[in-house]
Amino acid sequence: MDINYISTRGNSESLSFAGAVAEGMVSSGGLFVPEKIPRADFSKLAGRSYQEIAIAVLTPFMGGFTPAEIASCVNEAYMPESFDIPEVVKTVPIGGNRYVLELWHGPTAAFKDVALQIMPRFMRFSKIKLDDDSRTLILVATSGDTGKAALEGFKNRDGISIAVFYPHGGVSEIQRLQMATTDGNNTTVIAARGNFDDCQSGVKALFGDKALRDKATGRGVKFSSANSINWGRLCPQIVYYVKSYLDLVSTSVISYGDDVDFCVPTGNFGNILAGYYAKEMGLPIRRLICASNKNNVLTDFFNGGEYAVKDREFHKTMSPSMDILISSNLERFLFEMSGRDAGKVVDWYDSLAKRGRFSVDPDIMEKMRGLIEARWVDENESLKTIGEVYRESRYVMDTHTAVAASAVNCVNGINKSNGVPVIIASTASPYKFAPSVLAGLGIKGGGDEFESIKILSKSGAGQIHRAVDGLTSKKVLHDKVIDIKDMRDTVEGLL
Ligand SMILES: *Cc1c(COP(=O)(O)O)cnc(C)c1O
Repeated sequence: MDINYISTRGNSESLSFAGAVAEGMVSSGGLFVPEKIPRADFSKLAGRSYQEIAIAVLTPFMGGFTPAEIASCVNEAYMPESFDIPEVVKTVPIGGNRYVLELWHGPTAAFKDVALQIMPRFMRFSKIKLDDDSRTLILVATSGDTGKAALEGFKNRDGISIAVFYPHGGVSEIQRLQMATTDGNNTTVIAARGNFDDCQSGVKALFGDKALRDKATGRGVKFSSANSINWGRLCPQIVYYVKSYLDLVSTSVISYGDDVDFCVPTGNFGNILAGYYAKEMGLPIRRLICASNKNNVLTDFFNGGEYAVKDREFHKTMSPSMDILISSNLERFLFEMSGRDAGKVVDWYDSLAKRGRFSVDPDIMEKMRGLIEARWVDENESLKTIGEVYRESRYVMDTHTAVAASAVNCVNGINKSNGVPVIIASTASPYKFAPSVLAGLGIKGGGDEFESIKILSKSGAGQIHRAVDGLTSKKVLHDKVIDIKDMRDTVEGLL
C-alpha cells in the first residue's frame, strides 16, 4: 500500500506523494506528513553508495513513482557535476568520539543542495502524474542560502520558473553575488528593501492573495514553494543520516545496532526533523541535539515547554542561516509528539498567531525530552570552538557547524559521551563564511570577503569551494531593487 500524505491540522484530504510535492503546503495552513512512517532494516545497506541508500530510503515514501523514475531522480541529482565528491556527503573524525558530517559538497556550498538538487526532479514527475500542464512559479524568500540553492536546482527546468526575494543589504556579499550571477532562462532575483521577515511575510501574502492567484490561474500559472515546508524537500534529508551512520559501521567505529547521537545546527527545524524520521524508521539514533545560536526560541521551548516569539528580539549573528524565530517544521514534530492529534496542533498554532505563544502539556514535554537535547551558544563560544577544533585536529569548520560543535561540548562535556559517538551536521563550507571563520582561527582577515577566502585557503581549510571561487569575475545578471510593497506588482509581471 502506498503511503499517502495528511495535513498536520486535519484540514486536507490525503494526497499522493506527487500531490503533496506539487501542493507544497495546505493553503489554509498545515503541513503534509506521511500517514505512517515506514520501518526499514538499514543494516543491509552498509557499504552501499549514497545513490543506492537514497533509493532504498526514499522508495517507501514515493508511492506512485516507478523504480525507474525514482532511480532517475536520485542518479541525476547526485551526479559528480553537482557534488564534488563521489560519496556526496562525508563523515570526518575530529577526535573525542566526534564526527563531522559534511553536507556542503553541492553546487552552492550549503547543505540545502542535498534536497534542492532532487526536489525539482520530484516536481517534474509529479506534474506529469497529476496531468498538470500549468507553469509552476516557485516563490522564495531567502536570508541567503536557500535562494541560491533553489536557483541552482530549478534553473532551466521545463514548465517551472523561479523568483527569489532577498533583503537588500541583508545578505553577505558572497551570498548576493552567488544569486545575482545566476544564469538560466527562468530565473528572477530581486533585492527588496526590508529585512528577511519582511520578505518572508511578503511571499506568504502573495500565496494568500486570491485575486493574484486567480489572475495566475487565468494565465496557466500555479505558485509553489521551495522552502522546507514542502515534504519533497524534507524526505531527501533522511538519507544522509542513514549514510553517515553506515559510514561509522563501514569504518568499524560502531557495529550496526550501536547508538549514535546527532547534533544539528537548527533554524527552521527541517534538518533535525529528518533525523527524527530516520530514527522512527529504525536507525539506531540515541538522541538528537538541537543547537541554536542567540536566537534561542527552540532551546527555551524544549527546556521549558513554552514556544514564545512575542517580545523576543531578533539577533543578527555570524550563523545567519539560523537567525529565525518561527521554525516552520516544528509543527510536524509536534504533530508526532501529540500522538498525531490535529486538534491540538490547531490550538497551538491559533495561540501562536493570536498571542505569539503556546505551551505543551507535561506528558508531551516528557516525550520530547527522551528524544531531543536543546542547547544554545553565544557568538564567543562558537568562535572559540572553531579555534579549539582546529588546534586539536586541524579541522576548519564554518560558523553554523561551530554552533553545533559548541552545543556538543555543553551536553557532553569535552569527551564525555559515554562512548557514544556524536555526529555533528556540518551545514556550510567554511569558505561561505570566511571572515568569521578567520576570526575564530585567530587570523587577521582581509579587506573584504574575497581577500578572507584567499587567506583562509592558506590557513588549512583546503581547496577553495567552487561555489565561491571566481565569483567576482562572473557577470551580474540580476540587480533589481524594489520596495516590499512592490513585490506583488513584480510577481504579476512574471505571470
Ligand atoms: C538553512 C541552514 C541551517 C538551518 O537548517 P534548518 O533545516 O532550517 O534547521 C543551518 N545552517 C545552514 C548553513 C543553513 O543554510
